[in-house]
Amino acid sequence: MKIILTDIDGVCLNWSKQFDKYLEYYHPGLSIKDPTEYDAYKDVESIMKAHNHSAWMGYLEPLRDAKDILPTLKQEGWEVHACTAMGFDPHAIALRKTNLDAHFPGVFDRMDTVGFGESKEKWLEKYRGTDCIWVEDKITNAMLGAQMGIKTFLMKQSYNGQCDDKRIVKVDNWQQIYYYINKQ
Ligand SMILES: [Mg+2]
Repeated sequence: MKIILTDIDGVCLNWSKQFDKYLEYYHPGLSIKDPTEYDAYKDVESIMKAHNHSAWMGYLEPLRDAKDILPTLKQEGWEVHACTAMGFDPHAIALRKTNLDAHFPGVFDRMDTVGFGESKEKWLEKYRGTDCIWVEDKITNAMLGAQMGIKTFLMKQSYNGQCDDKRIVKVDNWQQIYYYINKQ
């Protein structure tokens, strides 16, 4: 079974763009101090949580070329299992599913949720030692997959550029993942 494990925010959907709009709407004047540091987002953690539990989760735009490449991979026989650390608000989750269906009809075979900002270690554990591929933008979760022997890709973002781990392949878009998979 060919399975793509994927994060959603910053990998399939453009979370940063949406969050910037949310900040502008509810907290004008407030911005991320240094968007090149993942930790900079800690200052606005409570706002991120409110955003991730809101109806805004129904309206994110696809990230880069995800909308072109994910359906192709699906057609070529890959299952797509997503894991998102958005928390457990049932209506926000329902809206997220609607949002994904709108941009990626029939692509996702499952979408699991872990607590807001929580590690995906337990979720990844189910796939330990398999030949799945794992796509993340959060370095700590990417490293967990790599440690479990899962082929791991890091979707480059301003806040993860400094990451350097030999086991992890850094990519700019899904096209690069597609090439990598198909040249194996
Ligand atoms: Mg993410």
